[in-house]
Amino acid sequence: MKFFIAQLATETNTFAATPTGWQGFEEQGLYRGDASRLAPTGTGAYLHAIRSMIEADGHEVAEGLCALAEPSGRTVRAVYESLRDQLLEDLRTALPVDAVLLLLHGAMVAEGYDDCEGDLLSRIRDIVGPDVPVGAELDLHCHFTERMRASADLIIAFKEYPHTDGTARARELYRLLVDRHNGRIRPVTAVHDCRMVGLWHTTREPMAGFVRRMQSFEGRDGVLSVSLGHGFPWGDVPESGAKLWVITDGDPTQAQALADRLGHEFWALREQTGGNTLPLDEALDQALAQPGLVVLADVADNPGGGAPGDSSFILRRVLERGIGQVALGAFWDLGAIHLCREAGVGALIDLRVGGKCGPSSGEPVDLRVTVRAIVENHSQSAVVVGDRAPLGTAVWVEAPNGVHLVLASVRGQVFSPEAFTGLGLRLEDMKLVVVKSTQHFHTEFAPISQAVLYAATPGAIAPDFAAIPYRVRNLNYWPRVADPRADRG
Ligand SMILES: [Zn+2]
Repeated sequence: MKFFIAQLATETNTFAATPTGWQGFEEQGLYRGDASRLAPTGTGAYLHAIRSMIEADGHEVAEGLCALAEPSGRTVRAVYESLRDQLLEDLRTALPVDAVLLLLHGAMVAEGYDDCEGDLLSRIRDIVGPDVPVGAELDLHCHFTERMRASADLIIAFKEYPHTDGTARARELYRLLVDRHNGRIRPVTAVHDCRMVGLWHTTREPMAGFVRRMQSFEGRDGVLSVSLGHGFPWGDVPESGAKLWVITDGDPTQAQALADRLGHEFWALREQTGGNTLPLDEALDQALAQPGLVVLADVADNPGGGAPGDSSFILRRVLERGIGQVALGAFWDLGAIHLCREAGVGALIDLRVGGKCGPSSGEPVDLRVTVRAIVENHSQSAVVVGDRAPLGTAVWVEAPNGVHLVLASVRGQVFSPEAFTGLGLRLEDMKLVVVKSTQHFHTEFAPISQAVLYAATPGAIAPDFAAIPYRVRNLNYWPRVADPRADRG
């Protein structure tokens, strides 16, 4: 068999003022056919894993575009159209192919395109025709649309948040594409709209159990795959929200019945699966009461959800309360980084940090700091997105009373302790580490932490799902409405 593989992925926060343009993609590395070879531990990690599994079975691979951008506002129209058309051109060049396997996000929105993945998949279907199987793997923070469903044979979402299962899901997708090509299966997909908006961590019960519950149906009685698309709350598009979909072998009635059944089970868990954020002072009190290192997530300022990464709310409160032995990061503050570079390591300078991108970032904080380290091309381990994530020029500054800040020139969430320790900062000496991330930090921080806490602060993506100012999507969703399904019985 000959596979065409490619990747085009970003998650769009339609409320973010900053557009996603060329720089957003170039910063992560743009590749055309060689990502798996040139960036096997970075941007091309997923394509590398997929290419390896396909070639290990003796099949042929034609690799196309690989493009990835840190979440931000809508993608600029010309940029999306150019990337899409490059990918389609790569596919045409590779023809004839026996299957198409794509890594997409599922929540990419561009100017003029509310559903980039649906647009892309429908054009791919037009090129390859009805008989070539087309499969896509999505991030679970996706808007699963009717156009995506109708254009692809098989769509499988990650099941875990943090997304530790990208390669496992890719393997399932690959094997099902082979079966579809060989005529062993006839995949049909049915969807249940949960009418829910939220974020659901699978690191604890009952969501961990719900993941196992979905998996318990797969691979038997004609059920090929079960996915729960959690949705991306800050994407204001018509078909957003949590959706549960089931792929069966040729039986749409069975697929719909199971999707509805599992969708109702997920609904029934809603009061137990939701937010566990604490008011900031309560979170700080709990952290200080622990004997060991505590990690506190600044969830509302997670660049991974399109937030700026320079909010100062937690920093300000830490200073007001006189809390020491604390490290906070990573602040996206290019001006502050520039000043630290000019001053050099060891310099004692007055630095204005954070609070610059807009009202959701709070006010800037003025500090007298010592520049402790500057590292060019800093990066961090990031197992949930492949392998490594870039941080650009990173700076460690120390303020009085043992308050340590990490600043980074590439906007991105903190995935691993390396964001700090790679600069020489010793987390063993800290009581508290504050990370700008919603949940992906959990995989690599939980093993070194006494406790993991989540702070409720203001910010660009504060998890107050009933209050998100949607203008486009239907407002009939939980938790905005107590029972959005009342009209359906
Ligand atoms: Zn995600």
